[in-house]
Amino acid sequence: RNNAEKFEFQAEVSRLMDIIVNSLYSNKEIFLRELISNASDALDKIRFLSLTDKEVLGEGDTTKLEIQIKLDKEKKILSIRDRGIGMTKEDLIKNLGTIAKSGTSAFVEKMQSSGDLNLIGQFGVGFYSVYLVADYVEVISKHNDDKQHVWESKADGAFAISEDTWNEPLGRGTEIRLHLRNEAQEYLEESNLKELVKKYSEFINFPIYIWASKEVDVEVPADEDDSGDEKETADSTSSEEGEDEDADKADDEDAEKKPKTKTVKETTYEWELLNDVKAIWLRCPKDVTEEEYIKFYHSLAKDFNDEKPMAWSHFTAEGDVEFKAVLYVPPKAPYNLYDSYYKAKSNLKLYVRRVFISDEFDELLPKFLSFLKGIVDSDTLPLNVSREMLQAHSSLKTIKKKLIRKALDMIRKIAEDDPDESSGKDKKEAEQSGDDEKKGQYTKFWNEFGKSIKLGIIEDASNRNRLAKLLRFESTKSDGKLTSLDKYISRMKSGQKEIFYITGTNKEQLEESPFLERLKKMNYEVIFFTDPVDEYLMQYLMDYEGKQFQNVSKEGLKIGKDRKNKELKESFKELTKWWKGAITTDKVDEVKISNRLDNTPCVVVTSKFGWSATMERIMQAQTL
Ligand code: ADP
Ligand code: MG
Repeated sequence: RNNAEKFEFQAEVSRLMDIIVNSLYSNKEIFLRELISNASDALDKIRFLSLTDKEVLGEGDTTKLEIQIKLDKEKKILSIRDRGIGMTKEDLIKNLGTIAKSGTSAFVEKMQSSGDLNLIGQFGVGFYSVYLVADYVEVISKHNDDKQHVWESKADGAFAISEDTWNEPLGRGTEIRLHLRNEAQEYLEESNLKELVKKYSEFINFPIYIWASKEVDVEVPADEDDSGDEKETADSTSSEEGEDEDADKADDEDAEKKPKTKTVKETTYEWELLNDVKAIWLRCPKDVTEEEYIKFYHSLAKDFNDEKPMAWSHFTAEGDVEFKAVLYVPPKAPYNLYDSYYKAKSNLKLYVRRVFISDEFDELLPKFLSFLKGIVDSDTLPLNVSREMLQAHSSLKTIKKKLIRKALDMIRKIAEDDPDESSGKDKKEAEQSGDDEKKGQYTKFWNEFGKSIKLGIIEDASNRNRLAKLLRFESTKSDGKLTSLDKYISRMKSGQKEIFYITGTNKEQLEESPFLERLKKMNYEVIFFTDPVDEYLMQYLMDYEGKQFQNVSKEGLKIGKDRKNKELKESFKELTKWWKGAITTDKVDEVKISNRLDNTPCVVVTSKFGWSATMERIMQAQTL
């Protein structure tokens, strides 16, 4: 076009588009999911703005927050239109020409090697999936702050933008026209498309319509030539049906008086609604099937691998603050969960009375639970205030508190339902129930998210004990498996007052430690903590169920009754005195007779309040 301004795609986008265009990926239909999801996002945005400024919606049709799909078989165009926020010219250049999210180049590489495009939406580049099925795409968009523009590209490294002077005005919103490739003509089949939209829009909270054809019977006036035939038919019918002369006669008279009509099939078009917009979280939990919860998770997390979430919790909170929520434990931790822990945003979507507000509300969940996915819909929060005011609203604290409780209950339940976790009678019951699916689930959870539980113990004093219950570790008696504090306590020797642990870089090394010699011999259980975060953890976790923790490599270890201790102390007094004097540095506080060794003659122990040797190593590594 003459007035079009030309642009080049950012190099990364070009690479991505090349991969998509040349992809052999067979699940091409995902483009529809991505487009519907973008339309829904755009509608969420305008609806949110309209809360504080009604004017933004305009008048008439533009107030209808909906999505429309049309097929043009002749021109081979599939178009998807929304009445969302729309894009200005600047938006078009920025949003459909560059990649905003970081980590995308890693994704591009991953897609290139795996050929799996299913996760494209998670990386903020879902739009480009249109080139799986189209060789030419037009994006017509009208934002309140700008004129209507057309963005177009044939995925040849460049795109063009022009002011739109030829299409029908959209009022507000975006229309995406896909000029379908020859091998993608199946997306022009109405029945196909209806099915796909249904599949991908199950949890979209705006109505989606398709311009659907319908065969209808219409009465049309019969023209002159036809009238004779009609009459003949009528005659023959009546004579077949009955010998009633009067009726026959009346019929004849009728035919003469009334204008003759006939019935023909005609194709008409009308908007057909394809989805049911009742939000899943508003439904009663017992009416929602397991499959629906799983599907909802996939759409929420944009995670379309076949894996199920490990657990979910759907509940209503009542009282001062009312809200409904669905929380999920994902099947896997995102690859960068702990790299950007303090930067990570919460993954909860906040709605206020069915209106989407934000998915970046850090006030809803603490950092250590940011791995959870879900939605919260509150009737108590005000609708017509700014995001900032909402963020500061006092109800959020109550919501957060309840969400944490429910989240921890849900996680605890993974353990309770896991036959590997329970012991004794419980274990038998669990095995009898034959719930194979739940077997090993908690170990799986622990391997993916255990670190979050530890970080929670460090960060959240008020839930420390609940979190400590979820803690798992290996010990001198756990036989290579994970065990818990409750189980440790159940195995404690009579008279044992403290929970013993040792920290280090790996279990194999710790098992050889001289610190364990006597404890092992006397059949005491010692916990192995081998994750660097454990050192910090144990500075916060002082006790559990009234029992103190004792680092066995630190001063103050008491095992059993040390009757002989006093005697020994006395007889070796000269030696310890000499030794203390012989070590002339200020690095040793004291030289003592030890009760923790068996074969090893001596050992260096850290003071009760100082850093352990492992902590020293961690701190050294950090300053390097
Ligand atoms: P994401 O949706 O994860 O941001 P996409 O590649 O799907 O990534 O879309 C890129 C951006 O393009 C969106 O963030 C949005 O700003 C813009 N966009 C796409 N489709 C629409 C639309 N229908 N209406 C308004 N903006 C849109
Ligand atoms: Mg998208």
